[in-house]
Amino acid sequence: MLWPHMASLKSKIESNLARVRENIAAACAKADRSAGGVTVVAVTKTASLDAIKHLLDLGVTDLGEGRVQQMVDRAGEIAAYLQRRKNGPAPAVRWHMVGHLQRNKVKAAMEVAQVVHSIDSLRLAEELNARAEQQERVMDVLIQVNCSNEPQKFGVAVGAALHLVELMSTLRNIRAAGLMTMAPAVKDPEQARAAFVRLRELFDEIRHEKIGGDAFRHLSMGMSQDYTVAVEEGATLLRIGTALFE
Ligand SMILES: *Cc1c(COP(=O)(O)O)cnc(C)c1O
Repeated sequence: MLWPHMASLKSKIESNLARVRENIAAACAKADRSAGGVTVVAVTKTASLDAIKHLLDLGVTDLGEGRVQQMVDRAGEIAAYLQRRKNGPAPAVRWHMVGHLQRNKVKAAMEVAQVVHSIDSLRLAEELNARAEQQERVMDVLIQVNCSNEPQKFGVAVGAALHLVELMSTLRNIRAAGLMTMAPAVKDPEQARAAFVRLRELFDEIRHEKIGGDAFRHLSMGMSQDYTVAVEEGATLLRIGTALFE
């Protein structure tokens, strides 16, 4: 039998996910896009393990974390859960490192992450490339851009992003898969739109110059506050925590 609080956590996660998916569908319709082009990355940083399990049971397999150690711990717990779970083959979970990455944490991050969203310097890209080479793999990465010019914010300046992607194209064991930004934290999601438009324009410019190649196709933008606006402006990866778990 299910204890009442477990049933209610499950139904909360279910209705949160349904609402997020409805909002994405509506934003896609408004922007004349197919909803299939948008992936929700569930950012689990404040979520309980039970809440994450419910989300996995509902078919969400892209998970994101802001801190390396937490991602490694979580990934271990989730993998153990999926192995124990008997209902059908275990889905392949993809971990996205969405937070700031220090070079001394690259090795640990690469044990788990399939995608790093927060490349903001050539030195960090080179470190990832060297580790990926040791592991004989190619790592997908996104370049984080500070579209709102906030001094306290991570990410390369808009004017430096194209050059960084260009320099990265000589590194054989990482693949520039697109751009990421965090909009300013504002009450009205409309105020985030300018940052998303800037990122998309930069993305189009890099695509136009054929710098990133075919693999360069993702726009990681939009969080709980502003993901519908991000979808309207072309986001392919939404990083959503609060709206799914709270
Ligand atoms: C926490 C976090 C998110 C998710 O934020 P919510 O507002 O909870 O949706 C997305 N991206 C990054 C980089 C984060 O650190």
